[in-house]
Amino acid sequence: MDSVIVIGGGLGGFTVVQQLRGRGFAGAIAVVDPEGLPYDRPPLSKEFLAGGIDAEQLHFVEPHWFAERHVDVYAAAATAVDLPDPADDDGRAAVTLSDGGRLFADRVVFATGGRARTLPIPGGDLDSLFVLRTRADAEALRSGLRPGTRLALIGAGLIGAEAASAARGFGAEVTLIEPVDPPLVPAIGRELAERLHAMHTEAGIRVVTAAPVAIRASAGEHSIEFADGTVVSADVVLVGIGIEPETALAEAAGLDVDGGVLTDAGQRTSHPRVWAVGDCARPRYDDGTLGRRAEHWENAMHAGTAAAAAMLGQEPPAPTAPWFWSDRYGVHVEGVGDMSAGETTVTRADASGRVQAAFRLAPAGDGQRVVGAAAIDGGVAVRVARRLIDRGIAADPARLADSSVPYKQLLK
Ligand SMILES: Cc1cc2nc3c(=O)[nH]c(=O)nc-3n(C[C@H](O)[C@H](O)[C@H](O)COP(=O)(O)OP(=O)(O)OC[C@H]3O[C@@H](n4cnc5c(N)ncnc54)[C@H](O)[C@@H]3O)c2cc1C
Repeated sequence: MDSVIVIGGGLGGFTVVQQLRGRGFAGAIAVVDPEGLPYDRPPLSKEFLAGGIDAEQLHFVEPHWFAERHVDVYAAAATAVDLPDPADDDGRAAVTLSDGGRLFADRVVFATGGRARTLPIPGGDLDSLFVLRTRADAEALRSGLRPGTRLALIGAGLIGAEAASAARGFGAEVTLIEPVDPPLVPAIGRELAERLHAMHTEAGIRVVTAAPVAIRASAGEHSIEFADGTVVSADVVLVGIGIEPETALAEAAGLDVDGGVLTDAGQRTSHPRVWAVGDCARPRYDDGTLGRRAEHWENAMHAGTAAAAAMLGQEPPAPTAPWFWSDRYGVHVEGVGDMSAGETTVTRADASGRVQAAFRLAPAGDGQRVVGAAAIDGGVAVRVARRLIDRGIAADPARLADSSVPYKQLLK
């Protein structure tokens, strides 16, 4: 292997580059992304949206990092990828760029992430609706937020909830529209989801528990309509209802795609010299079954690391239970493993008696292992749970629930 083209400069693509150089790869590396230098996305709905950090602080590394490591960054989109015959060991891939350029390499990595899902209702595709995926999206949204701005957020998942919290800081009048009450149960369990969802109302946000059926825009005002005839009026509307993996380019290049670019544990795709990482990739296990596509920061970092190791014929790090975090209203939420698997939930309260941590347990007959955990301002609980999950250690539900037992003692 002497050259690699990475398509997409989000966390997944950046990690591949960083790991390739860190693991001693001295060949040519090109990163292609219309957004230019790689930057981090989680702050877009948190500190960056709130105005606490600037665009420079989103970058993973200083711009000179790339020049010093001889990594070429092309600020263009890849529009086509021509792959060589898999049997041709000397064949090179050609990547066509939106500026007309063409790059050649013997390895290609797809790190194209995802794009915001569109609301499948009349008016759901209006140009005036905001989504929150890019730095430009966050800048545009922020510039519309002033004291008294009527902001409607459609979707109270991780991004909608974080944006609601940030928007309150601008004095906006926020309406949060979400049909599921409470949202996020599959990610953090019912007990914590209820506590978190209640924080919107406590923060002065109006919560509407319903699904919109149409959106109309006229003279700068949006009318969001519901099946019962009610209407929410808003100046600014943000739609945060999840993402679709960005797989069109990979599909056109002939890779196996099914709700994500299919990859093995080393992030290899169906073509022997092509890898896929991060939000755009979906695991296909050795027995052919398909896993769940992850849309979290740490997954993109692990996948980028695994891909770089596999490309260089090195051992990838051992897989760990999936982990994510979210921040809102000054609290920090973390989840690990799978809160929708297992059978029972055990909770532990904080000093003020509120649910702080929830642990999901496998059936008693199956060793009563922890399969998922989540916590609010409980990083230690989640770190300990992660070790319990990764090592398959059986847990005593009574000790999990007992706040007089230090979390770390659960490992003993
Ligand atoms: C606002 C926001 C907040 C988030 N908060 C959290 C959080 O708190 N916790 C958490 O765990 N996760 C969070 N995430 C998720 C996390 O950021 C993603 O899982 C992670 O960024 C995925 O990395 P990626 O490299 O796969 O994709 P992305 O970061 O989406 O990067 C994909 C890149 O590919 C580029 N691209 C796409 N198509 C092409 C093409 N044809 N040619 C060239 N380039 C292309 C795009 O321009 C983009 O830069 C958040 C995401 C967002 C958007």
